[in-house]
Amino acid sequence: MQLSQRIQQLTPSLTLAIDAKAKELQRQGADVVNLGAGEPDFDTPAPVVEAAHQAALAGKTKYTPTAGIPELRSAIAARVSKTHGIAVDAAEIVVSNGAKQALYNALQAVVNPGDDVLVFAPYWVSYPDMIALAGGRMVPVAVHEGSFEPNLAALEESCTARTRGLILNSPTNPTGAVYSRETIEAIVDFARRKDLWILSDEMYELLVYDGAKHVSPSQIGAEGRARTLMASGFSKSFAMTGWRCGYLVAPKQVASAVATLQGQMTTNVNTPTQWAALAALDLDDSVMGAMVKEFGERRRLLVRGMSEILRGRAPVHEPRGAFYLMQDVRPFLGKRFRDRPLRDDRELGEALLDSALVATVPGSAFAAPGFIRLSYATSRENLQKAVARMGAFLNELA
Ligand code: PMP
Ligand code: GLU
Repeated sequence: MQLSQRIQQLTPSLTLAIDAKAKELQRQGADVVNLGAGEPDFDTPAPVVEAAHQAALAGKTKYTPTAGIPELRSAIAARVSKTHGIAVDAAEIVVSNGAKQALYNALQAVVNPGDDVLVFAPYWVSYPDMIALAGGRMVPVAVHEGSFEPNLAALEESCTARTRGLILNSPTNPTGAVYSRETIEAIVDFARRKDLWILSDEMYELLVYDGAKHVSPSQIGAEGRARTLMASGFSKSFAMTGWRCGYLVAPKQVASAVATLQGQMTTNVNTPTQWAALAALDLDDSVMGAMVKEFGERRRLLVRGMSEILRGRAPVHEPRGAFYLMQDVRPFLGKRFRDRPLRDDRELGEALLDSALVATVPGSAFAAPGFIRLSYATSRENLQKAVARMGAFLNELA
């Protein structure tokens, strides 16, 4: 049987594949430390679970409006209005199966076959495939080594008559960079001059450390507001990955088109999940605050631990947001672990998993060859164990 060209161009999500492999090894009894997929290890807060339970018991198990229950759309609009300091209407919100579907929907709504979409590299694994599914072409744009902040000169050079928009993801998966206000302002100005959409993936908006501030392009004047399609969700900020709930904030015309698309694809997000998400927005800020504080501590622990085991052999770039550390492993490539050649980051990552039982994601999955991504959304104990194992692994390289 011949599969469609559309499907044949896809590659499986490597973050999900590694997570599945690590979890399968754990199921078989292996003591794997999983620094692979970015998934908070915290349980979903109890009031959120309780809200889903009560909703289901109360018969809230039927189809809802495709774009989401009015209560949730209004609560998201109110929340974004408050956090971003902009006036957002419930009609601008579409609730989707994770931010993943929100991003997919947005690209389907604004990208035509043959359009270019600019994406800062390193980038999250799903953008290239989502753009391809919309018939577009992804154009990677370089960032500055070390800070991982966008290279604005490269951005200008990458833009052509075919460019339709750009994807912005700050705080960034996989680098942990949090773009400065000046950078966001420059990007909005660029989008205005070139007449582009900005698809702003704000999945990690709450996860910033050391006084770093999340700035959204939607906050940069009327131009920023009008051009931004903003995706975010509950997975990371509220420890709700498996519930599958995210949303898009977009101008009404786009939001309505997206709801039509979703109505032909998946309909509404699971009904009890929507009530759970509503309860999540009602949580006291201290609940999230405690999680963010803990991620901050883990980040410190991982950065310190990596610096200790690397002993200057490779730089450690301290992330300021999300829960990832992109570790440069280029100085170790070309060496051998026991008899295994470590020619690239993939081989190094595989050897690390097979021999040291530490799951990581190779940087080449994010267009950052020579790096590995470590997720610190796991316990301090696990991080300590992972650092010790990686240290022993590196010391054995010859
Ligand atoms: N954007 C980024 C940058 C991500 O890392 C992820 C993965 N969790 C998502 C979007 C999608 O998250 P979800 O679909 O779970 O809301
Ligand atoms: N986004 C997370 C990650 O990058 C979870 C897996 C996925 O959806 O890609 O690890």
